[in-house]
Amino acid sequence: MTTIQLKPRKEESILRFHPWVFSGAIARVTLDADNPNPAPVEGEVVRVTSADGKVLGVGHWQIGSIAVRLLAFGTGELPAQFWQERIAAAYAMRQRIGLLREDNNVYRLIHGEGDCLPGLVVDVYGETAVVQAHSVGMHLCRYEIADAIVKTVKEVMAVYYKSDDTLPFKAPIEGEKTGWLVEQSAVSGQQSGEYWATENGLEVRIDWLRGQKTGFFIDQRENRALVERYARGKDVLNMFCYTGGFSLYALRGGARTVHSVDVSQKAIDLVNANVARNFPDCTNHKAVTADAFDYLSEQLASGQQFDLIILDPPAFAKHRDAVKNALRGYQRINAKAIEMIRPGGILFTFSCSQAVDKEAFRLAVFSAAAQTGRKVRILHQLHQPQDHPINIYHPEGEYLKGLVVYVE
Ligand code: SAH
Repeated sequence: MTTIQLKPRKEESILRFHPWVFSGAIARVTLDADNPNPAPVEGEVVRVTSADGKVLGVGHWQIGSIAVRLLAFGTGELPAQFWQERIAAAYAMRQRIGLLREDNNVYRLIHGEGDCLPGLVVDVYGETAVVQAHSVGMHLCRYEIADAIVKTVKEVMAVYYKSDDTLPFKAPIEGEKTGWLVEQSAVSGQQSGEYWATENGLEVRIDWLRGQKTGFFIDQRENRALVERYARGKDVLNMFCYTGGFSLYALRGGARTVHSVDVSQKAIDLVNANVARNFPDCTNHKAVTADAFDYLSEQLASGQQFDLIILDPPAFAKHRDAVKNALRGYQRINAKAIEMIRPGGILFTFSCSQAVDKEAFRLAVFSAAAQTGRKVRILHQLHQPQDHPINIYHPEGEYLKGLVVYVE
């Protein structure tokens, strides 16, 4: 195995279980004598040692500023049952915190560093798990991972791989980036890619073949449930609705009307299918295919108002250098929404950009409020749910933040 030796004192963060080794911390790379390659291959499992040769852990080698993502600490080898043990620990946590129920079979099983598996995401929809690799190392281990999932998670029988958007695009990737890793023809939706999953008693259509991400945004589950609590009698506007998760909860919560808006026609088709399935006699929902900025400007110009608005845009900043523009985008869209809220109304506003921290996001919402001149109070500060845990040693894992504000 290739050994990565760190510079003096660069082991400190690893001794505190931070899972990343930055390329600048590396003093020397030593390949095995019989290794024909001139350098480690992206994705290979390497051993990391301190400057004085003490073994710190093993992880996946990467090309880039994060050079190693550690999988195990204090050992020079991956334990024999590594994948099964890690997956079993993650599964046990989801069971213990009550996420697997008759009325809920959608959850995130593995959330990267949050579940001590950097570079790996696994979402479960009933009998199917959808695996996303964010590193070449995880890509190379995809069959072992799939095998460990079906052996460990008793409900799961089929595993779909969907990494075309998540693998580092410059890396040389061998093998398919999408497709079934474990096929089971008896599993519902396997051929069509359409499956009706249940989240908190609501049915949602999951299209893991063609949908965004793994097919569904599981990370808003708890925040959607909070919308349900505030929806009674309200005129609700759900911006960036995707499959309409927030809309379904608002309808169940007794909203007077719900408008769902997304720029993607495919998303709007999914919203309509989801509403029809859960509320067959529904007459108070309207889905609109439109750009959010245009839609808000038009509604504002026509004097339209709402009691409850949800703003859940895609990540405006995917990288640090895009943060400034992203903050301007958040401010602009929040100002429009705050202006459109009836007195005594509520705004649920989110950012899923990891590069925008909660203080910066709050400042953007503050600036938006100040721009409108309205009295605004924070009722809730929201974040990612319990199946997207943040490893305490890896605070970078925090990405979703939201504010619920009361607009006087
Ligand atoms: N709230 C959703 C997830 C939102 S994901 C949920 O609970 O599941 C972000 C969505 O924003 C995507 O569906 C994408 O199609 C949509 N989107 C991206 N840019 C947009 C724009 N300019 N106007 C409207 N929708 C947009």
